[in-house]
Amino acid sequence: MPRLPRPLPPPGARNLVLVILDSLRYDSWQAAPPRSLAGIGPLQRRFSYATWTAPSHLNLLMGLLPHTSPPRVYASDYYRQDFLRYRERLGVPELEYRRMLPSLFLPTLLRGLGYLTHARVSMPVLNPLTVLNTDFDSYRLMGAHNDMAAIVDELHFSSERPSFWLLNVGETHYPYAHPGSADSVELPHISGVHGVIKGLDGLRAGSDAAAEFFTPASLADLHARQIAALEYLDGVFLALLERLPAETWLIVTSDHGELFGEDGYFGHGPIMHEKVLEVPFLEGRVG
Ligand SMILES: [Zn+2]
Repeated sequence: MPRLPRPLPPPGARNLVLVILDSLRYDSWQAAPPRSLAGIGPLQRRFSYATWTAPSHLNLLMGLLPHTSPPRVYASDYYRQDFLRYRERLGVPELEYRRMLPSLFLPTLLRGLGYLTHARVSMPVLNPLTVLNTDFDSYRLMGAHNDMAAIVDELHFSSERPSFWLLNVGETHYPYAHPGSADSVELPHISGVHGVIKGLDGLRAGSDAAAEFFTPASLADLHARQIAALEYLDGVFLALLERLPAETWLIVTSDHGELFGEDGYFGHGPIMHEKVLEVPFLEGRVG
């Protein structure tokens, strides 16, 4: 589809940065809430629309952030109200719901408002050859699946136009390791990083060795590792905040939760369980 010319942005439109901490459970955030984000907004318990990375990110890029699961509300009313939150997020009070039509895709909407659009992703299943890479000015699969600091280094903003950045962060994904620590632990290799699609690791490196299943003790350890990964990210969030211009709206959430042995499940994907839908959500204006 040919791209439309990019208009000048509305006055007052601000940057939007959407950080997705892949696989991060709500209770992992509760166990180690990043102090650097304490002033942004209150932690909310929300629910993902999907249980694994690719459909969840498509949903997020449709502008549908994790939902609050309100009772006695029609879905159409919820979607409308949820969308109109972008008026405050973007600093565009005249934004109309119909602007989301017909593409139903946030980068297309934002580009149509005059935004620059960028994505940096850590998970191979989100690689730039996927349909998610639509109406982005730049979209890159990072060289490592667990290096948010490297993503932060790539952020840049324009004084002429607001920017949208989608950041998919992998430290909180299995094997829950920050850069340099993954090689020091003996954990089964799970193909494609997320254990769903074999062969995608070929976009970087990897093998197709079969994964073993975990013991109760190792599952508890893995949950602790995810919490420790979030503790590590506190410092990276501090670097992120130092990098963000004052007129920026920051959203931090995850694409789905993770199972650590509850009812016999590990991980995420083909799992129907509250803990794979329950996610942390936090948003607010920076500066
Ligand atoms: Zn994911």
